[in-house]
Formats: sequence, C-alpha cells, structure tokens
Amino acid sequence: TKKELELLKELESVTVDGRVVEIAGNIGNPQDAERVMANGGEGVGLFRTEFLYMSSDTLPTEEQQFTAYKEALLKMKGNPVIIRTLDIGGDKHLSYLPIDDEMNPFLGYRAIRLCLDRKDIFKTQLRALFRASVYGKLKIMFPMVSGYNEIMEAKKIVNEVKKELDNENIPYSHDVEIGIMIEIPSAAIMSDILAKEVDFFSIGTNDLIQYTIAVDRMNEKISYLYDPFNPAVLRLIKLVIDNAHRAGKWVGVCGEMAGDLRVIPLLLGMGLDEFSMSASSILKARKLIRSLNYEDTKKMVEDVLKLSSGDEVKKYIEENV
Ligand code: PEP
Ligand code: MG
Repeated sequence: TKKELELLKELESVTVDGRVVEIAGNIGNPQDAERVMANGGEGVGLFRTEFLYMSSDTLPTEEQQFTAYKEALLKMKGNPVIIRTLDIGGDKHLSYLPIDDEMNPFLGYRAIRLCLDRKDIFKTQLRALFRASVYGKLKIMFPMVSGYNEIMEAKKIVNEVKKELDNENIPYSHDVEIGIMIEIPSAAIMSDILAKEVDFFSIGTNDLIQYTIAVDRMNEKISYLYDPFNPAVLRLIKLVIDNAHRAGKWVGVCGEMAGDLRVIPLLLGMGLDEFSMSASSILKARKLIRSLNYEDTKKMVEDVLKLSSGDEVKKYIEENV
C-alpha cells in the first residue's frame, strides 16, 4: 500500500543478506529532482540534458545551463547527480541545429559523435557543468560511446575546459567522476579496456536492446523482438558489470530495465551497484530489493544465463522469484 511505501523513504536499499545498492531517479529538468527526493531517491542516475536544448529556440547559453545544473545539484542536497551530456540526433531534433537527412538516424550523426564534431557546443556544456560542480556531487556521463577513441577525445576536451577555468580563476570541484553510457554493443564487448579509462559505467538498456537485437525501439511492427529478457542482452549486461568490477569501477543501469520489477532480481544478482529509474518506481524497487536475498539472486543469474530465449527467462523468473 501507499503508506507501506512511504515508510521505505528513509530506509536503505539493502537485501535481506546485507547487499547495499543505490536507487536513483531519472530526470529531464532540474524541477524533477524534487520528485526524486520526495520519493526517497538516493541520487540522480540520469539527467537527460537534451530536454534543456529541446525546450529552447536557440542553443542554451553557458549561463542558462549553469543555472539549470546548479539547481539540480542543490535540490539533490549533496546526493550524487549524474548529468549526461547532450544526446541529440536519432529521433530527437533541434530546430536551430539542422542535421542532414540520414538513411539511418539511429546509427548516424548524434550524441557524443555530434559533440566531438561541434566542440563549441560540447565545451559550453562542459564549462557550465564544471562551474556548477561546486554546488553538489556532480558526475558527468557521455552518451552513445562506441569505443576507446571517443572516450580519449572527450576526456581531452574535459581537460581543456578545466585548464580554461583554471586560467580564469573559476572554481570547480576536482573530484567530478567521469563515466560513459554503455548502450552500444561494441562498448559492452570492449568494456574491460574502457573500464580503465572512466570512473563508472551506466548501462543504457533502452538503446542496448535496440542495437544488440537490431530492433528499432520505435517500430511497433517488430516490437515483439524488443525484449529485455533476451539472453543476449542479459549476457552483455553481465559482461559489462564483471569487467567494470574487475577494474574497480561501479556500474549502474539507467534504462527502463532498472525499474522493471521482473528484471531487478537479475540485475541485483549480476552485482549491479546502482539502479536509476523514474521517480514513481523508486519505492516499489526498494521494497522488492529489501525482500530479496543477494546470494539467491546470484544463483538465479547463473541459471538464467544458460537459457535459450527471452520466453524461457521470463518463465524462469515467474517461477523462481
Ligand atoms: C537508454 O538508452 O537506455 C537511455 C537511458 O537513454 P535514452 O533512453 O535517453 O536513449
Ligand atoms: Mg540511450
């Protein structure tokens, strides 16, 4: 009931046998942070900054962005806030930033690819982010990273921005973690190498499902293929978590799977450290996690990763959770 859930707001996200994880919220603007706090969120796991750009008629200025990021950090009162740099392209467009027609927009000029090409846009956002970093616990995350070179290039630009701020005597936090989204199979496959270059991973399962199964996430006609239980997806997620942990890095999921009560036991059993979801799912997820035994979910994962199809996985979960 609602009252039961209310009581969970102040409680830890911990399993019966003591495994502690973090449950965070996804937001699209700074005001949403209030709902995350009101629902007992322990942080923001994904701030989709593209909405800031989409709700404007021109590129948002450094000052406008600074104000928005500062507000989100202040509202979260020192809890971690992961802000994702501009993830535009694919199905999301900006009228003031026309992109040539593409045969395959989801495989096209977008997100970190666009930002590395338009360094001016990228740097403005990074400056605003670092300037805001003194107001809370900021972590920065790059979307749609396909491999090593993009990380190295993005980090180089981060360092340029920090140097600029140093030269201008503008203060910023020196322990902003830098992470990447894992939502392209090439990044998942190379995650042992990539983990050495970043502070954390956040798995974007919405796109990871799309790209792993080659199924357009918007196409109703083939939506039967868009299956979070597909063992190929589950194996990739397990690989990413193992590789991150071997490198001493933490891993979250910020796609829809993180808030799916049927999938949470599996993600938990794989060792996932952070679950980021819509604010309205947080307390239900906490309730579930507090009822689970981590050692049991680990055994479930072992079984599930041997199964042949998404249907078998779904059936296994229905019978065993
Ligand atoms: C994802 O791909 O899982 C994700 C969180 O990013 P978006 O849904 O914004 O593409
Ligand atoms: Mg995505």
